[in-house]
Amino acid sequence: MNQPITVKDKQFILSISNEEIQNSIQKVADRINADYAGKEIFFIGVLNGVFMYAADLLKKITVPCQISFTKVASYQGTQSTGTIKQLIGMPEGIEGRHVVILEDIVDTGFTMREILNQLQAHKPADIKIATLLFKPNSFKESYNVDYRAMEIPNAFIVGYGLDYDGYGRNLPDIYTVVN
Ligand code: 5GP
Repeated sequence: MNQPITVKDKQFILSISNEEIQNSIQKVADRINADYAGKEIFFIGVLNGVFMYAADLLKKITVPCQISFTKVASYQGTQSTGTIKQLIGMPEGIEGRHVVILEDIVDTGFTMREILNQLQAHKPADIKIATLLFKPNSFKESYNVDYRAMEIPNAFIVGYGLDYDGYGRNLPDIYTVVN
């Protein structure tokens, strides 16, 4: 039975199991390992939501790599505010590196646009994006989202690192809000 769970004051139902998540991450890791054969990757994770995905993806990466993190905030409750606050700046030593940005979810794409703008100023050799989740019907940007582990409809989700007002990040599976 798919019984709803409560996170803070809203109900959610199971939509993506941890097993499905791991399988889709393995497929992305296989592609990244092939695409970056003979190169080194500098991963930049976008906190907070990315922490579980970054941990699981990195365990599946076989080419030499480093990881660092940046932090931005754009959501309040279940709504994107459209205003992006930089809370932790870009790491040092990006110049000339093959950067892969790790993001938990690309929704409108505005947050990633801001991150791309900031990263470009640090002169990396190249930049690719590897997002766990992508909402194709919400995306309003024109840049390429290179690696998308899973595509989902336009509904608010929690779990596997993603939160609702700070709660639900600990859930191993992904849940969708019940309206
Ligand atoms: P965008 O700027 O692409 O609209 O939103 C990106 C950020 O909004 C993500 O990094 C994530 O923090 C948050 N976000 C977007 N959609 C969802 C969602 O369905 N659930 C949660 N928990 N966060 C989301």
